[in-house]
Amino acid sequence: MSLNTPHALPSYLSKHELGPWGTYLEQVERVTPYLGHLAKWVETLKRPKRSLIVDIPVELDNGTIAHFEGYRVQHNTSRGPGKGGVRFHQDVTLSEVMALAAWMSIKTAAVNLPFGGAKGGIRINPHNHSRGELERITRRYTSEIGVIIGPNKDIPAPDVNTNAQTMAWMMDTYSMNEGATTTGVVTGKPISLGGSLGRVEATGRGVFVVGCEAARDQGINIEGARVVVQGFGNVGGTAARLFQEAGAKVIAVQDHTACLHNSNGLDVLSLLKHAEEHGGIAGTPNAEAISHDDFWALETELLIPAALEGQITARNAPTIRARIVIEGANGPTTPEADDILAANGTLVVPDVLANAGGVTVSYFEWVQDFSSFYWTEAEINHRLEAMMRSAYASVASVAREHGVSQRTAAFITGCSRILEAREVRGLYP
Ligand code: GLU
Repeated sequence: MSLNTPHALPSYLSKHELGPWGTYLEQVERVTPYLGHLAKWVETLKRPKRSLIVDIPVELDNGTIAHFEGYRVQHNTSRGPGKGGVRFHQDVTLSEVMALAAWMSIKTAAVNLPFGGAKGGIRINPHNHSRGELERITRRYTSEIGVIIGPNKDIPAPDVNTNAQTMAWMMDTYSMNEGATTTGVVTGKPISLGGSLGRVEATGRGVFVVGCEAARDQGINIEGARVVVQGFGNVGGTAARLFQEAGAKVIAVQDHTACLHNSNGLDVLSLLKHAEEHGGIAGTPNAEAISHDDFWALETELLIPAALEGQITARNAPTIRARIVIEGANGPTTPEADDILAANGTLVVPDVLANAGGVTVSYFEWVQDFSSFYWTEAEINHRLEAMMRSAYASVASVAREHGVSQRTAAFITGCSRILEAREVRGLYP
């Protein structure tokens, strides 16, 4: 049997697989005609370099033993060490983590950070566990993936349902196992452990910066512009606040507890306070609860999906009346929805560009840890804004040059950089 027969292909290679990995494969397919001679190497992007599944046994507070499944996927390391967050979610699967790792490869390359792409996850609902249980689960997971991570190999960071405390436990576990304090093994750490100022806000700030650039491109004045935000965690909450501070009107917000609307503008600070105190936005005063369908169909200048993958699909895309979609989440729009939005004249600023602010400040944190010299918050925000603006300008110009979507343009830039490195390094061993 020839190696090229379908039987020799890995099971995950079909773009018809539903879910985020299928979405990613379709995106790679769309960019391939623009890769020139580098298309020879494109299969590299369609399979992760390394995928690890680990068993996480822990003793729960009630004395019983529970087992959780964890993952760490290194999609590509041609341009530098793997980089990407760790997600705690009850629905996480290996195939989802593969897609998230792959988007990290494209993202770091599209904004020209010297990293590859990786991602991790644990199939767990963190809200059902005590702080002590979460600490034990995080530490055991870190020990299990310890064989493949490291400051020069693969550097985890926060993602959905993980935070600076999670990173502190990961950094401590790795360091104790190594016998040396190794701050650079994770980013998104507490400031007291070598974390970077501005990291917590960085993804939301990046969404805001590219959102302003895209609005200017479309002749939209941010002052008075309507903004709709799906997801009110670290990314959506920060972006909503920054847009409001800039004079925009945040007319609707959705989280796991409610969809709230006020055509005169919601008060983002009250929403943030309410969500902090009650675990969600439901019940915040001066807002009207609306249905999910009505939420997506609101007329708005900016729509920011900042929750999970697969939120804008062929089902709700035809109802969307936004001038610009800025993807704060990873993978929120399916390829079919991309086509519908494009046909309706909605500009989509893709995840690999729009939410790259987080990993950009992670890069700053990693650099600061290596040099043990720390920058001011103003310096970090200034560098972040400059990098996001220039990444936006270069993606927008590639999109114009080839007459393609900004997603395909970001993939042209990202995939070309990865495959150039891949080609010049050569195959070894
Ligand atoms: N989890 C973030 C992302 O999806 C940040 C990853 C990082 O800083 O490495 O981009």
